[in-house]
Amino acid sequence: MSEEYMLCNFKNCYTPLTKTAWITRCSHVFCDKHGIKYFCNHEARIKCPACNEIRNRESDIFKIDLNPSDMLISCVRPDKVLDYASRAAKLWCYQMQIKRKLNMGSVCSKYEKMASEAVLKYKHENNGQ
Ligand SMILES: [Zn+2]
Ligand SMILES: [Zn+2]
Repeated sequence: MSEEYMLCNFKNCYTPLTKTAWITRCSHVFCDKHGIKYFCNHEARIKCPACNEIRNRESDIFKIDLNPSDMLISCVRPDKVLDYASRAAKLWCYQMQIKRKLNMGSVCSKYEKMASEAVLKYKHENNGQ
């Protein structure tokens, strides 16, 4: 199993998330099958299938494209991108910890390092101008 994918957090599912994922504010991710099953209904408030926290369907649960166009990302303000990068590093760390518990390895420190290096580089380059 590749280390480069997050896995569906639904109990005993572990589907690698390659294209799209459902993500909740409690940092849990789900495959399309479980996202559709649990989040595509008309309830305003839904329990997260991983931690049972009550979530608001409108503001706390999102279906996301895991491979957005690089052009899309290029247009976002760099300080925002870096903010997103550090948040992504945190989410990946958390997800890799879940994976590690399943003995599937970890890329946590790699992503943390990448995010902090990008922030440092950006700050360094902008101080000189
Ligand atoms: Zn699943
Ligand atoms: Zn949750």
